[in-house]
Amino acid sequence: MLASLSHHLRHRLLIPSISSLPTLPFLFLHLNHTLPLLFLHLNHTLTLPLPLPMDESSLRRSLADKQSAVDAQGNAVRALKAAKASKSDVDSAIDSLNALKLEKASIERSLQAIVGGAGDGMSVSREAFRQTVGNTLERRLFYIPSFKIYRGVAGLYDYGPPGCAVKSNVLAFWRQHFVLEENMLEVDCPCVTPEVVLKASGHVDKFTDLMVKDVKTGTCYRADHLLKDFCNEKLQKDLTLTLEKAAELKHVLATLDDLSTDQLGAKIKEYGIVAPETKNGLSDPYPFNLMFQTSIGPSGLLPGYMRPETAQGIFVNFKDLYYYNGNKLPFAAAQIGQAFRNEISPRQGLLRVREFTLAEIEHFVDPEDKSHPKFIEVASLEFFMFPREQQMSGQSAQKLRLGDAVSKGTVNNETLGYFIGRVYLFLTSLGIDADRLRFRQHLANEMAHYAADCWDAEIECSYGWIECVGIADRSAYDLKAHSEKSKVDLVAHEKFSEPREVEKLVITPNKKELGMTFKGNQKAVVESLEAMNEEEALKMKAALEAKGEDEFYVCVLGKSVTIKDSMIKISKKKIVEHQRVFTPSVIEPSFGIGRIIYCLFEHSFYTRPSKAGDEQLNVFRFPPVVAPIKCTVFPLIQKPEYESVARLISKSLTAAGVSHRIDMTGTTIGKRYARTDELGVPFAITVDSQADVTIRERDSKDQVRVKIEEAASVIKEVVDGQRTWADVWSTFPHHATASADDE
Ligand code: AMP
Repeated sequence: MLASLSHHLRHRLLIPSISSLPTLPFLFLHLNHTLPLLFLHLNHTLTLPLPLPMDESSLRRSLADKQSAVDAQGNAVRALKAAKASKSDVDSAIDSLNALKLEKASIERSLQAIVGGAGDGMSVSREAFRQTVGNTLERRLFYIPSFKIYRGVAGLYDYGPPGCAVKSNVLAFWRQHFVLEENMLEVDCPCVTPEVVLKASGHVDKFTDLMVKDVKTGTCYRADHLLKDFCNEKLQKDLTLTLEKAAELKHVLATLDDLSTDQLGAKIKEYGIVAPETKNGLSDPYPFNLMFQTSIGPSGLLPGYMRPETAQGIFVNFKDLYYYNGNKLPFAAAQIGQAFRNEISPRQGLLRVREFTLAEIEHFVDPEDKSHPKFIEVASLEFFMFPREQQMSGQSAQKLRLGDAVSKGTVNNETLGYFIGRVYLFLTSLGIDADRLRFRQHLANEMAHYAADCWDAEIECSYGWIECVGIADRSAYDLKAHSEKSKVDLVAHEKFSEPREVEKLVITPNKKELGMTFKGNQKAVVESLEAMNEEEALKMKAALEAKGEDEFYVCVLGKSVTIKDSMIKISKKKIVEHQRVFTPSVIEPSFGIGRIIYCLFEHSFYTRPSKAGDEQLNVFRFPPVVAPIKCTVFPLIQKPEYESVARLISKSLTAAGVSHRIDMTGTTIGKRYARTDELGVPFAITVDSQADVTIRERDSKDQVRVKIEEAASVIKEVVDGQRTWADVWSTFPHHATASADDE
């Protein structure tokens, strides 16, 4: 949902990870990549090889530390230059900087060798890794640039057959993990939305990004992206920067979201930023509304938009949903559907697109009680959290126990904490690497004024840290906005067991006198007076008592009117109440399904050498819940007896509801395994006799022998999570792999 109106702009900005941990030992990867060796680096002179294997997370930490060391040394070089130090001192500092950069590159290589599976341990840059994954995804039709035969359109992609299957698996798991688990009320609302709805929500006026144009070609750019790129590039590459200039650029990056249109334009001019491709000048920035506009019906008189989020459909149905839920709080509604945003210059592949699937939850809760009965189930989870204090002081994300984060007030309330925990479980169950997942709290200036607290689940991939799920406590903002615009009360009730006497402010407009004074505008004035909140009414009462009149702004008239003492009575009265009427708060987890899937592709991808060692084979290590196809059935050779057994097993798999394919091609079994590994198929059944068959697990390549009649049920049990592969491995006889069995 529109996480905030003003902060929408910065929703798209990703704050880079900063690490201030002490520098870890320099790491080196053995060239034959079998055993990583650790070198203790002492004053850059002494290296002692220690045969210690390093895992991926240690490498990641080590890399973050080395980046900090490079940054610090870069500052030291700048300081020496500023102080006009001797050439030899500056040169020696530059030598140290270069040495640190080499060490960093080496760690990167080691990490990429693990993550990207570079068989020879040689450098595989992030871009190269991205390219390898992207090529595999496109070649195997996980996705296809939309309208490709017409040269495509930026920011629009199709899911091909395996991509579609992954997406529907992710959505099915989402429904199970959230909708089923919490008894959520699922709705399905139209994408075409009348203007009035998005006017009330604020999208029509504020769902904008600031845009600049190439003055000669008219090419459009997001103004904040250009400024951000400029600052980052200067800081990384320009060693001649003074300390003051570096500090200034860092400050610009930290406060990018706070810059007004004019300030952003001024910075672009001051830094001489030009169009990246043509180097032409740029226009002044101006707001560009990201919604696709349309009109509903043939007259063209009813303006509408393609929804930029699914949440509004839930808010406008609140009254009916609350009734459906027996007028009880808390409850949650959920919706999965397409959202449309006319992104200015989508440039992050599948991550920033113009049409995407959102899965959103609106959990309605009493603002006076945000406890959650099931919080205890997630309280002991520990994962990377990045509270705003840590971000502000330049520290990195830390592993925190969720229960502690809530009890210490780092996370605002239990319900918000509960959803953070559930999102963590959801993402890691899908196969997202917990070491490349963090929950980042919004900075104070990033959060909407009405929001109580917001956290983004960010996943690290080759594009950096990407916001994939936003989890926000939006207070009562959305329901109040729609109540006001629609004049339909979107409220909840709490019945008291005993009636309570309370003091209430009563506003009684003198309709006769207001009618004589304001004539046709009387209704608008009366309604606005009655809609005053307690603070506004008390202020007016004080003004009327002091001056006998008060200026009052009437929104619908767009002007102020003078209210005289005789036109209104504002008093306090004791009344007996039987119930409390209030607008519920909403806690909103909002999932960008496409972003999650893309990160999952990257986190699941690895390569391993072929048997002959002459080729790198691609594998997606999707867990069964995500895998597009759960099992392939191969007759070992093209023999009618084997093929009929394969068909029989296929029938049983279909009856058990397990998605599978039969591959009857005469290609070698090794090649056929490689083909399905590249689709992430977790299991393969190979028919090599008429009594029993082998079942092969994708990542270990281990095989067991199972009777034909049992094959489908074993696969079903493992795929459904009723049984582990380890259990299967310890139960059935092992099959010794023949040399031709694997590529
Ligand atoms: P927002 O309403 O801006 O908080 O967005 C909700 C979620 O939608 C984000 O957490 C992203 O995962 C996803 N999202 C936002 N914009 C895009 C986009 N242009 N392409 C793909 N996913 C997006």
